Amino acid sequence: MKITDHIKNANGKTLFSLEVVPPQKGIGIEDLYKNIDPLMEFKPPFIDVTTSREEYIYLDKGNGLMERRITRMRPGTLGICAAIQHKYNVDTVPHVLCGGFSQEETEYLLVDCMYLGIDNVMALRGDAMKGEQHFVPTVGGHRNAMDLVHQMNDLGRGKYLHDEKISAEENKFCIGVAGYPEKHMEAPSMNYDLKWLKQKVDAGADYIVTQMFFDNKKFIDFVKQAREIGINVPIIPGIKPIATKGHLQMLPKVFKIDLPEDLISEVEKAKDNTAVKQIGIEWAIAQCRELMDFGVPVLHFYSMGKSDNIKKIAKEIF
Ligand code: FAD
Repeated sequence: MKITDHIKNANGKTLFSLEVVPPQKGIGIEDLYKNIDPLMEFKPPFIDVTTSREEYIYLDKGNGLMERRITRMRPGTLGICAAIQHKYNVDTVPHVLCGGFSQEETEYLLVDCMYLGIDNVMALRGDAMKGEQHFVPTVGGHRNAMDLVHQMNDLGRGKYLHDEKISAEENKFCIGVAGYPEKHMEAPSMNYDLKWLKQKVDAGADYIVTQMFFDNKKFIDFVKQAREIGINVPIIPGIKPIATKGHLQMLPKVFKIDLPEDLISEVEKAKDNTAVKQIGIEWAIAQCRELMDFGVPVLHFYSMGKSDNIKKIAKEIF
C-alpha cells in the first residue's frame, strides 16, 4: 500500500515508522531482525531500507603494491526489503540512489520493485563517494534526485528507457524525497534548497522525509516555508535519539546538522553513555510530543542498528 494511503487511512493519527541499514557483507540478516522485532508492537506501516554508496577499498598485492577496487560494503537493499515484507507483512521502502547506478540499472531495480509488490520508493541523489570532494554522477546515471523522480514516474506510466509506449493503466510508485530543515550542505541558501525541493515535488514526489534534527523550531519553520511556496505533500520528520557522547561530534560531521546548546551541555555533563542514552530518550520523547501536537503524519526513526532506545520512546508516545 502507498505511504500516502497509510497516512490518509490514519485519519490524523500520527504513525510510527523506522529506517534500517543493511548489514555489512558476510554478517547475515539475523541481527537486523533482532532490531526490528521489538519495534513491531508499534505497528509501523512501512520500514525504509537504506542503500549504501560504493566505496574504494585497497587490497594488499603482497609485492609492495596496493590494488584499488570499488565495492559496496552493505549491498542487498532490495533483498532485505523483500525479506522484511515477507517476514513481517509490512510495506518496505527501498532507497534508490542516483550515485553508483546508471539509468538502465535503476530501471532494472524499479522493475524488480514492481514484481515484488513494492509500492513505495525513496528517490535520493546520494552523497559524494568517500574520499571525493563532490558528488560525481555515474556514467549514464542521474545528477540529481529530481531526474530520478522523473524516471520513476515515467516507469509508472509504462515509459521505459528503450521505448515510449505509454500504457493506459498507471502503476505509479509512491515516491519519497529528502528534505533538510537545516538546509542541504551544498545549497547556498535555504530558499535555494526549498526551490529544488519544490521541483522534486512538481516532478511527482508524493511525500518528503526530513534529515534528522534536534530543534523542533527548525522543522516547524521548514514546514511553514515549504507550505508558503506551494509544497503541499506530507512532510515526515526524521528522529534520531542521541545515544553516545561521540554523537556530539559524529552527527554534525556526517549529517551537517546543529545540536541545541541545552542538549550539548546535558550530554557533556553525563557521567557515562548509559546516562547519555537516557538524556537522548527524554529529549526525543519531548520532541515527538511537540511534533505530534504540530500534527505530523508520521514519526520516522533512524534506528542505525539500535532499537532499545527507540522502543522506550515509542512506549511513551504511542
Ligand atoms: P538532491 O535533491 O538532488 O539535492 C542535492 C543538492 O543539489 C541540494 O543542495 C539541492 O539544493 C541541489 N539541487 C537539487 N536539484 C537540483 C537541480 N535540478 N539543479 C541544481 N541543483 C539542484 N544517502 C545514501 O547514500 N543512502 C541512503 O539510503 C540515504 N537515505 C537518506 C534518507 C533521508 C530521509 C535523507 C534526508 C537523506 C538520505 N541520504 C542517503 C543522504 C542523501 O543522499 C544526501 O543528503 C545527498 O547529498 C543529497 O541527496 P538528495 O536526494 O537530497 O539530493
